[in-house]
Amino acid sequence: MDSMGCQMNTADAERMEGQLRSLGFARAEEGTPAQVVVLNTCSIREHAEAKVYSYLGPHAARKRAGEDLAIVVAGCVAQQEGEALLRRVPEIDMVMGPQYANRLGDLLEGVFNGNQIAPTHIMEDPTQPQRSSTVCAWVNVIYGCNERCTYCVVPTTRGSEQRGSEQSRPRDAVRAEIEALVAEGYREVTLLGQNIDSWGSDLSPKQSFADLLRDVGGVDGLARMRFVTSHPRYMSPRVIDAVAEVPALCPMFHIPFQSGDDGILRDMGRGHTAARYREIVHNIRTRLPDAAITADAIVGFPGETEEQFENTLQLMRDVRFDQINTAAYSPRPHTPAAVWGDQVEEGVKKERLRRINELAAEHALERRQRYLGRVEEVLVEKRNERHPAQVKGRNPQGCPVFFEGDIDELKGQLVPVRIVEARPYSLVGERAEGRFAGGRYADDGESVVVEA
Ligand code: SF4
Repeated sequence: MDSMGCQMNTADAERMEGQLRSLGFARAEEGTPAQVVVLNTCSIREHAEAKVYSYLGPHAARKRAGEDLAIVVAGCVAQQEGEALLRRVPEIDMVMGPQYANRLGDLLEGVFNGNQIAPTHIMEDPTQPQRSSTVCAWVNVIYGCNERCTYCVVPTTRGSEQRGSEQSRPRDAVRAEIEALVAEGYREVTLLGQNIDSWGSDLSPKQSFADLLRDVGGVDGLARMRFVTSHPRYMSPRVIDAVAEVPALCPMFHIPFQSGDDGILRDMGRGHTAARYREIVHNIRTRLPDAAITADAIVGFPGETEEQFENTLQLMRDVRFDQINTAAYSPRPHTPAAVWGDQVEEGVKKERLRRINELAAEHALERRQRYLGRVEEVLVEKRNERHPAQVKGRNPQGCPVFFEGDIDELKGQLVPVRIVEARPYSLVGERAEGRFAGGRYADDGESVVVEA
């Protein structure tokens, strides 16, 4: 099982691995040829299809040489390319889009009956993922996306061509999954959805994401809950209120802005303006001054002028993000913007990417510096592989924190850590005495720490 791309894909891969294990399969040892090969693909980056073909090459060669193995291509490239993949690599046994991640077991059975393409409907998920962490888990709450951003492949890969492709999981199913995770010892859950604010709008009767947060955020024994991804068009102040009021909800928001220019936002089909984005940030900072705000941004979208790019940098200067995932625009197959005539030159895109990354890193460091000298409550996840004497965890805002400690003693624990070094994208600290009062931070931006 190899997975590329985003957290949604990682969550799907865990789910598929869980099904294979429940069918009696085990992960092939390093260097041992696998009997079932699943490649969970991502189509966001450039050359995605080429990467898939080069990965499949050796497995297809094994099959041509007479070895008995099943090759499954899952994920977004599978959804996008469909039968084209089978034509190009006839050794593939199954092509399945991301919405079938919960059905790999059944579908594999179909493989042995000669079916190569997954049928088309989504069902509630009865499967158990094989999760890669024993502390933090991802839980899908909504599949698909009804938006039509003109650069994005998701509407054609994780949804259908028609409006109404978003499918919310029922609240009870989400709650039951989280309760089961807590019973297994998980401390933190991240709710996942491409446009998570839309959760519940396809349910009958309609429900709101803020209500879901209040409900599942209150599961007994759950230490922390996060959620991604918020859409500026749909994010409601009630979500900010829920984060401020439910103790387990972490003060962090991931809200892509993509561009700081209204003309580009219109061409992207985002359905929001830069002013609307600034208003959301203002609302968050009024209610939760210490919250982390992270985002995604694209530079060099077709037609983007230097002035429009400057508007993006200005939005960043106004907001000062904790972190931004940046990308130079790259035309993706079957998306409207890919065929527009006013593509920006590669050299210009590269230069803008360099400038935006430089500014993002400057702001990230400035934002991390606010933690210096503070005591942060860190949920310990794992050993720091590069420095085995250290463990790695995260503070409530989601920033990675490294400090010296014994993983066997600390894994899954909430530990007070005094921050002694701020780097652009991580913090270094040392264990502090004392304990947190309920793990919450006061609204004045100070950590609430009660000395023992
Ligand atoms: S909201 Fe996100 S996932 Fe949906 S179409 Fe736009 S960029 Fe793609």
